[in-house]
Amino acid sequence: MAATATERKLLIDGEWIETGDRLDVRSPYSGELVGRVARGGAEEARRAVDAAAHALERPLPAHKRAEILVKVAGLIGRRHEEVARTICAEAGKPIKAARVEASRAMSTYTFAAVEARRLAGEMVALEGAQAGEGKLGFTLRKPVGVVGAISPFNFPCNLVAHKLAPALAAGCPAVLKPASQTPLSALLLAELEEEAGLPAGWVNVVAGAASAIGDVLVEDERVKLITFTGSGDVGWGLQERAPRKRVKLELGNSTPAVVAADADIESAAGKLAANAFSFAGQSCISVQRIYVERQALDAFLAAFVPKVEALKVGDPADDETDVGPVIDEDARDRIVAWVEEAVDAGAELLAGGGHDGPLVRPTVLAEVADDQKVSCEEVFGPVVAVNGVGSVAEAIERANGTRFGLQAGIFTTSLDTALAAADRLEFGGIMVNEAPTFRSDQMPYGGVKASGNTKEGPAYAVREMTEERLVVIQR
Ligand code: NAP
Repeated sequence: MAATATERKLLIDGEWIETGDRLDVRSPYSGELVGRVARGGAEEARRAVDAAAHALERPLPAHKRAEILVKVAGLIGRRHEEVARTICAEAGKPIKAARVEASRAMSTYTFAAVEARRLAGEMVALEGAQAGEGKLGFTLRKPVGVVGAISPFNFPCNLVAHKLAPALAAGCPAVLKPASQTPLSALLLAELEEEAGLPAGWVNVVAGAASAIGDVLVEDERVKLITFTGSGDVGWGLQERAPRKRVKLELGNSTPAVVAADADIESAAGKLAANAFSFAGQSCISVQRIYVERQALDAFLAAFVPKVEALKVGDPADDETDVGPVIDEDARDRIVAWVEEAVDAGAELLAGGGHDGPLVRPTVLAEVADDQKVSCEEVFGPVVAVNGVGSVAEAIERANGTRFGLQAGIFTTSLDTALAAADRLEFGGIMVNEAPTFRSDQMPYGGVKASGNTKEGPAYAVREMTEERLVVIQR
């Protein structure tokens, strides 16, 4: 057990509770025990929903919610290094990326506070119809009810923030189930929310048995909205089982980038090399497929491959590390096998391949067939496929050729090409002259097709977490 292993209980109705069972949290890099968390199940989830439903009966005014959200941002700032070290320890995220995630969580809380302060409905122009003469119409935005939140391992702090902060901004008490591999950051955030003055029951965190906790969130009618970030199978399964709830899904992608021959090749290569491998490719918008117009392919590869080879792979706690471990051995073995399958099917290995213990070597493949798993499935590892194409139109067609649609990118100096790509790429977000991995926390972020059915970013999440109530007054 690491000298710094953290002991944590679950938070239900303002009490930190034991359950008699334990969840071990291990470093994906060293296997060392970094934390022990009380392991909950259906019973704890039910108590948490009771607490949240009770909290909903005692609404907090918007200015108070905003004040708390601002305080949480400040507390994350004050304990920034501890938050970053927690992310690094449990997720194996390189510390420099973990520090960025901690800062982004501050930003998420800050933007959520803005939304709490300006949460309002709108006037309805009733006099626009004869029937509305003499009537005044407006809408109120009311909290939807208890929010059930389920988060993944890869951004254990900021993706929790993207659920808890808008829920509070919207006036909804929440029950959070964090990923079993990374519950420590979520419990730390909940502690900071309490310290910021959040009353009992407004945030409840139940780590543990996923399907038992998920069942409670699906079955309990008081949970009006489930916000889920994770894999498609689990997410769409939740939606099918809860047809009367709002089930908001942020799922995976096979993220493409198009490089037109007229692009600034050096800049594109730099941005794509950094963003295909940060957090070992375990971001839902990690660059996975690059389509380069053939006349620029040699120049692109000459710039791209050395940048990949220069990435420092190793201990995530080291300040210099760019690429750390993948989350566990199963993920590592799957990623390495998919690369081998692609090579066996004719792809060229330009860099990497294989692994060193938990570290999958940053891998560049060329000319990968579209039906290979490294193209059409989500790799969620440090692997990128670079393909030459005859035209931007072909690149767009191939980029669209998977079931996913979260974000895509295009590098070009032509405004016409950029706008045509924005029109034709079937994704929730299109980045021009930026890696498709770009996300700023206030922007509307979310996918189409199999990648999901919602937008996160506090303004958008608050809209989802509230419902409109129409008021009509006869003058
Ligand atoms: P996952 O296996 O689907 O797990 C996500 C969460 O769902 C975890 O908390 C997990 O709990 C829980 N879960 C598993 N089975 C469940 C069930 N039957 N009922 C209720 N909850 C259940 O996904 P992951 O491996 O952690 O995350 C990687 C995936 O997330 C990738 O596909 C990635 O693209 C996606 N992702 C999407 C976004 C986005 O914003 N679009 C962002 C980040 C990640 P346990 O940990 O206890 O199993």
